Amino acid sequence: MKYHIENFGCQMNEHDMEKVRHLLHVAGFEAASAATDADVVIVNTCCVREKAEQKFYSLMGRLRRLKAKSTVVLGVMGCVAQLEKEHILEKLPFIDFSLGTSNVHRVEEAIRIARTEKRKLLSFSENGCEASLHVRPGGKGRLRSFVTIMKGCDNFCSYCVVPYVRGREKSRKSSDIIEEVKELAAGGVREVTLLGQNVNSYNKGSDDCTFAQLLEKINDIDGLERIRFVTSHPKDLSPDLIRCFGRLEKLCEQIHLPFQSGSNRILGLMNRGYTAEEYLGLVHSLRKQCPGIAITADCIVGFPGERGQDFSDTQALVEEVRFDGLFSFCYSPRPETRAATLPDRVPREIAMERLKGLQATQKIITREKNCGLEGSTVEVLVEGSSKSSPEEFAGRTRTNRIVNFAGSEDLVGSLVELKVVKGYANSLRGAIPRPKEGGTC
Ligand code: SF4
Repeated sequence: MKYHIENFGCQMNEHDMEKVRHLLHVAGFEAASAATDADVVIVNTCCVREKAEQKFYSLMGRLRRLKAKSTVVLGVMGCVAQLEKEHILEKLPFIDFSLGTSNVHRVEEAIRIARTEKRKLLSFSENGCEASLHVRPGGKGRLRSFVTIMKGCDNFCSYCVVPYVRGREKSRKSSDIIEEVKELAAGGVREVTLLGQNVNSYNKGSDDCTFAQLLEKINDIDGLERIRFVTSHPKDLSPDLIRCFGRLEKLCEQIHLPFQSGSNRILGLMNRGYTAEEYLGLVHSLRKQCPGIAITADCIVGFPGERGQDFSDTQALVEEVRFDGLFSFCYSPRPETRAATLPDRVPREIAMERLKGLQATQKIITREKNCGLEGSTVEVLVEGSSKSSPEEFAGRTRTNRIVNFAGSEDLVGSLVELKVVKGYANSLRGAIPRPKEGGTC
């Protein structure tokens, strides 16, 4: 039996599909590179932005034709499944199963029921179904691995559908996480990214350890070289966590800290729980603690009620912080969210024009920052062939920049020191430094 997965969305979705792959391999399935070669096709969905949802429905239109002329089992998973629940069958009556975000562990059962009993399994248990959280996909053959430490979110930002599709916050026990990271490190994984919708509030209200304490414990694990985490909410970024940067040697000098808007009026409408000044204070503290830290962020343009001045405040914040990277999007109303009912929608053309302006500003900043690294030496975890030129190799710096360089296969999996010879808009070019003549090893 062969399976094929089409995945949309964030790292959490990517990691959920790693779990599905693991469960299916254990059950004897093999991966197929195309839907047309598979006995089972799974589509993992994202509904955080309207565009991802539209792409999903258009893919399902194509898969409907495949289903009509074959015996393929077709399943839908993830956020759209959770949001639509049983209504998904009104929109997509031809699918064989639909599993919500807490039901990853039921994938093999759903396929078996579809094949043997010709029944559709629909399962959308709310948060509290912890079995999915504890599936460990293992790290066999991988250098980098995600580790889920918590799921769900209690924040209810007014534009965001995540609390409705991923449920309320639920943290894993620190002892389970440590055990998983130890297993991964023993199996050859050198870098872990700790995942959660808001990792900063890990174990909130529990007497297990805090997120900062968890990082300290993971920092002590032998064989592991690097730790990253995503995503952080500014209102929960504690001084203890800031002090981890530059102090824990395995914690990479990089943080993704979404700010969403530079206008306090819009931040209030978004229910973000901080002001632009408080956000800038955090950036200052992070850079004071760890001067080389790379800061990336998310930002929404064209939120309902956003006036010219509000957008100028966002533009000013971007120019002041000089992010290392910025993921910026036009606002799109999401079902069940408060913002979807707000008046004063910003016309699409105006929102697009603002977005283009912001992205142009950030593009210049990113390039300038990358060019500013020319001549410096960076530590790179070599991951394999370069995507831009397969005869070359690529890896990431501790600040999460991609570096392409001429190297050799035996370097894959190792940490190398490279000299940055050129900075580009999205990557760096590195070179292995030549040993000095007459120097000692
Ligand atoms: S913090 Fe806000 S934006 Fe992030 S997942 Fe929670 S509700 Fe959504």
